[in-house]
Amino acid sequence: MTGAIVITTPAELRDRYQLGASVGLVPTMGSLHEGHLSLIRRAAAENDLAVVSAFVNPTQFNDPFDLARYPRSLERDVELATSAGANLVYAPEVATVYPAGFATRVHVDRITELWEGESRPGHFDAVATVVSILLNQVRPDRAYFGEKDFQQLAMIRQMHRDLAVPGEIVACPTVREPDGLAMSSRNARLSEGERAVAPVLYEALRAMDEAARGGERSSLKLAILGALIVKRALEIELEYLQVVNPETVEPLEVAIPGARAIVAATIGDTRLIDNLELLSGES
Ligand code: AMP
Repeated sequence: MTGAIVITTPAELRDRYQLGASVGLVPTMGSLHEGHLSLIRRAAAENDLAVVSAFVNPTQFNDPFDLARYPRSLERDVELATSAGANLVYAPEVATVYPAGFATRVHVDRITELWEGESRPGHFDAVATVVSILLNQVRPDRAYFGEKDFQQLAMIRQMHRDLAVPGEIVACPTVREPDGLAMSSRNARLSEGERAVAPVLYEALRAMDEAARGGERSSLKLAILGALIVKRALEIELEYLQVVNPETVEPLEVAIPGARAIVAATIGDTRLIDNLELLSGES
């Protein structure tokens, strides 16, 4: 297998595009795991060229220590991306994304004020801005994002629609460990004991879905049920657990099919998020 080619500038990247070929982009911060690879496989299957961007975006970290300890492994990422079908890995320098004098910020109203937006000030603006830049530099026909980061996906969809960005945003399902824990680069930070209790988040979401299927449609009661399950693991500090509208992420009083249960919790000093569609397949 020949490896994906690493490119560091948009001009070089587009030199590789052949006339009429379709391009799929998977934006990542590197440290690829099976979750990312599922997006890459899909991008490779649906496009002539699959581009994976690997860029640890400094502006989206609230804590400089968090940025410093974010894992970086370009060589390994190129190998993994290649094995999943990527043709090009776009790994720009910080100055290629934010040239000297950079002064623009993309802000999406409303969606960004809730949940993750409350606990991570400025984070979503940083994500909306870097995604806009990457979409403009790579110019993909389709860009692939994980449902794992559900609020982020809702924000990107809104930004994409509002700014009439060309191409399509494709949402991809969350890939999980066999015990249900959503895959995340942060999972590596969990101690053995923390890792053992982490699947309780997904367990709570599943219990909420089961209760909803059993006829309980009060979001409050579903959230209480889920919170009781999470609280069984004493190491976990629950931040929020809510049933929300999947487009606006605003709280819903009644769980309707397609509603999303979303959760954030801290185990030790690792913050995890997860979510699940409720009543999927029901009408
Ligand atoms: P990150 O490198 O963590 O910023 O993630 C890059 C992309 O991969 C985002 O669109 C994430 O939503 C997606 N992603 C991360 N973890 C998973 C997962 N477990 N399943 C599916 N997609 C994921």
